[in-house]
Amino acid sequence: MAMEEVFEKLRTLQNILSEKIKLEHEVEEIPKILVTQEELLSRLKKTFIDKNLEFEKCRSSEAEFRNLLEEALSMREKSEKNMDAVNTQREYEALDKEIRDAADKEQQYRKELQREERMLADLDEQIKQNTALIEQQEQDLEERRRGIETEVAGKKAQIEKLEEEERNLIPGLDPEVLFKFERIIRNKMGRGIVAIKGGVCTGCHMVLPVQFANLVHQGEEIVFCPYCSRILYYEESDEEGADYFDNEDTGSLADLDDMEDEEYDEDEEDEESTGMEFEE
Ligand SMILES: [Zn+2]
Repeated sequence: MAMEEVFEKLRTLQNILSEKIKLEHEVEEIPKILVTQEELLSRLKKTFIDKNLEFEKCRSSEAEFRNLLEEALSMREKSEKNMDAVNTQREYEALDKEIRDAADKEQQYRKELQREERMLADLDEQIKQNTALIEQQEQDLEERRRGIETEVAGKKAQIEKLEEEERNLIPGLDPEVLFKFERIIRNKMGRGIVAIKGGVCTGCHMVLPVQFANLVHQGEEIVFCPYCSRILYYEESDEEGADYFDNEDTGSLADLDDMEDEEYDEDEEDEESTGMEFEE
């Protein structure tokens, strides 16, 4: 296959892969928009449980005050009846005090009871609202889930179509080159094949050693940028023209040495670890 044909295929493949990677990313991200809603729902459910506990507690203390009130009432009534049988002033005073104490208690318990009743009504209202919110939220969530399922299914279908295009395109291309190419597109967000212009990689804007530039210009093999690992193809530069390749000063291997500590090394390590993953 002629080199220009290979480059053309790679450029087409680049578009397919970028689109596919974008879709894969979306398929992964879409369900995450539900997280906030799911959290809200679980908070509502927690509130529901808490309010119900509070309601039960309130109801038992309401019952307690109701009993106490009954007791105070019957105590007062009993004392009042006993008034008929009173003979002395002293007995009268004692009984009168009992009646007043019982009446005080009665009043106090009645107040407490009313307070608990108000609280119960309040809690009941809150629980009803909470229940309505939970139902609403569950319904919303269910609808959104269905919407998302449809959206994801659509994107997956698109991915499959792209993968088919990919399969049709790759025969005749070196699998190792393809592997590196796909990885670089994933890592560098989209571009795996770039032009070299005036001795500069248009992917990472590094000046390339003349040897590399010449190799790319000859177009006999696939050359990867030593800095950003992208596949390079030759493109005529407006400024320097073809005679750049006679100019020994523009770039040398010394440039490569200078840069080795940085991106070049990183890419090398990256390559090794990915290679190992593949063997497993
Ligand atoms: Zn580069």
